[in-house]
Amino acid sequence: MNMIMLGPPGVGKGTIAKKISAKYSWPQLSTGDMLREAIAKETEVGLKAKEFVESGKLVPDDIVIGIVKERISKDDCKAGFIFDGFPRTLPQAEAIDKEEIKIDAVLDFRASYEVIMQRLGGRRTCKKCGAIFHTKNIPPKKEGICDQCGGSLYQRDDEKPDVISKRLDVYDEQTKPLVNFYEKKEILLPINAETTADEIFRYCEEILGLVPSAPQ
Ligand code: AMP
Repeated sequence: MNMIMLGPPGVGKGTIAKKISAKYSWPQLSTGDMLREAIAKETEVGLKAKEFVESGKLVPDDIVIGIVKERISKDDCKAGFIFDGFPRTLPQAEAIDKEEIKIDAVLDFRASYEVIMQRLGGRRTCKKCGAIFHTKNIPPKKEGICDQCGGSLYQRDDEKPDVISKRLDVYDEQTKPLVNFYEKKEILLPINAETTADEIFRYCEEILGLVPSAPQ
Protein backbone atom coordinates (compact mmCIF):
# COMPACT_ATOMS: atom_id res chain seq x y z
CA MET A 1 0.00 0.00 0.00
CA ASN A 2 1.50 3.33 -1.11
CA MET A 3 -0.33 6.35 0.23
CA ILE A 4 -0.17 10.12 0.50
CA MET A 5 -1.14 12.17 3.55
CA LEU A 6 -2.50 15.44 2.21
CA GLY A 7 -3.72 18.43 4.22
CA PRO A 8 -2.60 21.72 5.73
CA PRO A 9 0.23 21.97 8.25
CA GLY A 10 -0.98 21.20 11.77
CA VAL A 11 -3.96 19.10 10.69
CA GLY A 12 -2.45 16.02 12.35
CA LYS A 13 -1.45 13.99 9.29
CA GLY A 14 2.02 13.29 10.73
CA THR A 15 0.50 11.83 13.91
CA ILE A 16 -1.72 9.48 11.91
CA ALA A 17 1.14 8.60 9.54
CA LYS A 18 3.20 7.54 12.60
CA LYS A 19 0.38 5.36 13.90
CA ILE A 20 -0.16 3.64 10.52
CA SER A 21 3.58 3.21 10.10
CA ALA A 22 3.96 1.64 13.57
CA LYS A 23 1.11 -0.84 13.04
CA TYR A 24 1.72 -1.84 9.41
CA SER A 25 5.51 -1.30 9.12
CA TRP A 26 5.28 0.98 6.08
CA PRO A 27 7.89 3.74 6.48
CA GLN A 28 6.66 7.30 7.02
CA LEU A 29 8.42 9.48 4.46
CA SER A 30 8.12 12.99 5.86
CA THR A 31 9.87 15.53 3.63
CA GLY A 32 9.65 18.05 6.51
CA ASP A 33 11.61 15.66 8.79
CA MET A 34 14.13 14.89 6.02
CA LEU A 35 14.72 18.60 5.39
CA ARG A 36 15.03 19.43 9.11
CA GLU A 37 17.57 16.61 9.49
CA ALA A 38 19.55 17.89 6.48
CA ILE A 39 19.50 21.41 7.96
CA ALA A 40 20.69 20.15 11.36
CA LYS A 41 23.54 18.21 9.72
CA GLU A 42 24.36 21.18 7.48
CA THR A 43 24.44 19.01 4.35
CA GLU A 44 24.38 20.60 0.87
CA VAL A 45 20.59 20.08 0.68
CA GLY A 46 20.21 21.44 4.21
CA LEU A 47 22.11 24.62 3.44
CA LYS A 48 19.95 25.22 0.35
CA ALA A 49 16.68 24.45 2.19
CA LYS A 50 17.30 26.35 5.45
CA GLU A 51 15.98 29.82 4.61
CA PHE A 52 12.84 28.39 2.93
CA VAL A 53 11.93 26.12 5.85
CA GLU A 54 12.58 28.76 8.48
CA SER A 55 10.43 31.37 6.75
CA GLY A 56 7.55 28.97 6.02
CA LYS A 57 8.08 28.94 2.24
CA LEU A 58 8.21 25.80 0.15
CA VAL A 59 11.63 24.40 -0.70
CA PRO A 60 12.16 24.37 -4.52
CA ASP A 61 10.65 21.32 -6.25
CA ASP A 62 13.91 19.96 -7.69
CA ILE A 63 15.50 19.71 -4.22
CA VAL A 64 12.50 17.97 -2.66
CA ILE A 65 11.94 15.62 -5.60
CA GLY A 66 15.64 14.68 -5.42
CA ILE A 67 15.54 13.66 -1.75
CA VAL A 68 12.28 11.74 -2.23
CA LYS A 69 13.62 9.82 -5.24
CA GLU A 70 16.67 8.78 -3.25
CA ARG A 71 14.62 7.73 -0.21
CA ILE A 72 12.01 5.79 -2.17
CA SER A 73 14.68 3.65 -3.85
CA LYS A 74 15.59 2.06 -0.47
CA ASP A 75 14.52 -1.51 0.26
CA ASP A 76 12.22 -0.66 3.17
CA CYS A 77 9.86 1.12 0.75
CA LYS A 78 9.27 -1.96 -1.41
CA ALA A 79 6.23 -3.27 0.50
CA GLY A 80 4.60 0.16 0.86
CA PHE A 81 5.20 3.66 2.22
CA ILE A 82 3.44 6.74 3.51
CA PHE A 83 4.24 10.09 1.94
CA ASP A 84 3.74 12.73 4.63
CA GLY A 85 3.94 16.34 3.45
CA PHE A 86 4.79 15.30 -0.10
CA PRO A 87 3.69 16.16 -2.77
CA ARG A 88 2.95 19.80 -1.97
CA THR A 89 2.86 21.27 -5.50
CA LEU A 90 1.53 20.13 -8.87
CA PRO A 91 5.06 19.63 -10.30
CA GLN A 92 5.82 17.32 -7.31
CA ALA A 93 2.64 15.32 -7.98
CA GLU A 94 3.54 15.11 -11.66
CA ALA A 95 7.03 13.90 -10.73
CA ILE A 96 5.44 10.95 -8.90
CA ASP A 97 3.57 10.03 -12.08
CA LYS A 98 6.67 10.54 -14.23
CA GLU A 99 8.68 8.18 -12.00
CA GLU A 100 5.81 5.66 -12.32
CA ILE A 101 5.39 5.48 -8.56
CA LYS A 102 1.97 3.94 -7.99
CA ILE A 103 -0.22 5.65 -5.39
CA ASP A 104 -3.14 3.61 -4.02
CA ALA A 105 -4.80 6.21 -1.81
CA VAL A 106 -4.60 9.89 -0.88
CA LEU A 107 -5.94 10.71 2.60
CA ASP A 108 -7.15 14.32 2.54
CA PHE A 109 -7.15 15.61 6.16
CA ARG A 110 -9.60 18.48 6.74
CA ALA A 111 -10.01 20.78 9.75
CA SER A 112 -11.07 24.39 10.34
CA TYR A 113 -8.58 27.27 10.50
CA GLU A 114 -9.26 27.67 14.26
CA VAL A 115 -8.51 24.01 15.03
CA ILE A 116 -5.29 24.14 13.01
CA MET A 117 -4.06 27.34 14.68
CA GLN A 118 -4.77 25.84 18.11
CA ARG A 119 -2.98 22.57 17.30
CA LEU A 120 0.10 24.12 15.68
CA GLY A 121 0.52 26.96 18.18
CA GLY A 122 0.63 24.53 21.13
CA ARG A 123 2.90 21.96 19.51
CA ARG A 124 6.25 21.22 21.14
CA THR A 125 8.94 18.97 19.65
CA CYS A 126 11.71 17.05 21.39
CA LYS A 127 15.14 18.36 20.39
CA LYS A 128 16.67 14.91 20.84
CA CYS A 129 14.22 12.32 19.44
CA GLY A 130 11.68 14.44 17.50
CA ALA A 131 8.66 13.21 19.54
CA ILE A 132 5.74 15.64 19.38
CA PHE A 133 3.70 16.95 22.33
CA HIS A 134 1.03 19.62 22.76
CA THR A 135 0.74 22.01 25.68
CA LYS A 136 -2.99 21.17 26.07
CA ASN A 137 -3.85 18.09 23.97
CA ILE A 138 -0.79 15.88 24.66
CA PRO A 139 1.07 17.51 27.59
CA PRO A 140 4.34 15.86 28.66
CA LYS A 141 4.40 14.46 32.22
CA LYS A 142 6.99 17.08 33.15
CA GLU A 143 6.71 20.49 31.50
CA GLY A 144 9.31 21.07 28.80
CA ILE A 145 10.73 17.51 29.03
CA CYS A 146 10.18 14.63 26.59
CA ASP A 147 8.42 11.61 28.17
CA GLN A 148 10.24 9.24 25.85
CA CYS A 149 13.91 10.25 26.08
CA GLY A 150 14.16 13.10 28.59
CA GLY A 151 15.26 15.57 25.87
CA SER A 152 14.12 19.18 26.07
CA LEU A 153 11.02 20.34 24.22
CA TYR A 154 11.00 23.45 22.02
CA GLN A 155 8.67 25.35 19.72
CA ARG A 156 9.84 25.20 16.11
CA ASP A 157 10.47 28.62 14.54
CA ASP A 158 7.97 27.79 11.81
CA GLU A 159 5.28 27.03 14.45
CA LYS A 160 5.24 30.58 15.78
CA PRO A 161 2.02 32.49 14.93
CA ASP A 162 3.22 34.71 12.05
CA VAL A 163 4.98 31.85 10.25
CA ILE A 164 1.97 29.53 10.80
CA SER A 165 -0.36 31.88 8.97
CA LYS A 166 2.19 32.23 6.13
CA ARG A 167 2.37 28.41 5.84
CA LEU A 168 -1.42 28.18 5.68
CA ASP A 169 -1.48 30.76 2.84
CA VAL A 170 1.19 28.75 1.02
CA TYR A 171 -0.95 25.62 1.48
CA ASP A 172 -4.03 27.32 0.01
CA GLU A 173 -2.11 28.66 -2.98
CA GLN A 174 0.22 25.79 -3.86
CA THR A 175 -0.97 22.55 -2.28
CA LYS A 176 -4.79 22.74 -2.32
CA PRO A 177 -4.91 22.27 -6.13
CA LEU A 178 -3.73 18.69 -5.44
CA VAL A 179 -7.15 17.88 -3.96
CA ASN A 180 -8.67 18.32 -7.40
CA PHE A 181 -5.72 16.53 -9.05
CA TYR A 182 -6.27 13.37 -6.96
CA GLU A 183 -10.08 13.65 -6.99
CA LYS A 184 -9.90 13.29 -10.76
CA LYS A 185 -7.79 10.15 -10.36
CA GLU A 186 -10.50 8.81 -8.01
CA ILE A 187 -8.09 7.97 -5.19
CA LEU A 188 -8.92 10.87 -2.83
CA LEU A 189 -10.36 9.93 0.58
CA PRO A 190 -11.63 12.90 2.65
CA ILE A 191 -10.91 12.61 6.38
CA ASN A 192 -12.57 14.67 9.11
CA ALA A 193 -9.49 15.58 11.16
CA GLU A 194 -11.29 17.46 13.93
CA THR A 195 -11.80 14.45 16.24
CA THR A 196 -9.22 12.60 18.37
CA ALA A 197 -6.11 10.93 16.95
CA ASP A 198 -7.44 7.46 17.92
CA GLU A 199 -10.76 8.05 16.16
CA ILE A 200 -9.10 9.45 13.05
CA PHE A 201 -6.65 6.53 12.95
CA ARG A 202 -9.48 3.98 13.24
CA TYR A 203 -11.45 5.71 10.48
CA CYS A 204 -8.38 5.74 8.21
CA GLU A 205 -7.87 2.01 8.74
CA GLU A 206 -11.51 1.39 7.83
CA ILE A 207 -11.57 3.59 4.75
CA LEU A 208 -8.33 2.01 3.52
CA GLY A 209 -9.90 -1.44 3.98
CA LEU A 210 -7.25 -2.48 6.52
CA VAL A 211 -9.86 -3.42 9.14
CA PRO A 212 -13.57 -4.21 8.78
CA SER A 213 -15.91 -1.20 9.08
CA ALA A 214 -17.58 -0.74 12.45
CA PRO A 215 -21.36 -1.34 12.28
CA GLN A 216 -23.32 1.98 12.07
P1 AMP B 1 6.31 19.99 7.48
O1 AMP B 1 7.04 19.46 8.66
O2 AMP B 1 5.80 18.94 6.55
O3 AMP B 1 5.22 20.97 7.85
O4 AMP B 1 7.38 20.82 6.61
C1 AMP B 1 8.11 21.89 7.17
C2 AMP B 1 8.69 22.76 6.05
O5 AMP B 1 9.55 21.96 5.23
C3 AMP B 1 7.67 23.36 5.10
O6 AMP B 1 7.09 24.55 5.60
C4 AMP B 1 8.54 23.60 3.87
O7 AMP B 1 9.39 24.71 4.05
C5 AMP B 1 9.43 22.37 3.85
N1 AMP B 1 8.81 21.24 3.09
C6 AMP B 1 8.39 20.05 3.60
N2 AMP B 1 7.89 19.26 2.63
C7 AMP B 1 7.99 19.99 1.49
C8 AMP B 1 7.62 19.73 0.12
N3 AMP B 1 7.04 18.57 -0.25
N4 AMP B 1 7.87 20.70 -0.79
C9 AMP B 1 8.46 21.86 -0.44
N5 AMP B 1 8.82 22.18 0.81
C10 AMP B 1 8.59 21.25 1.77
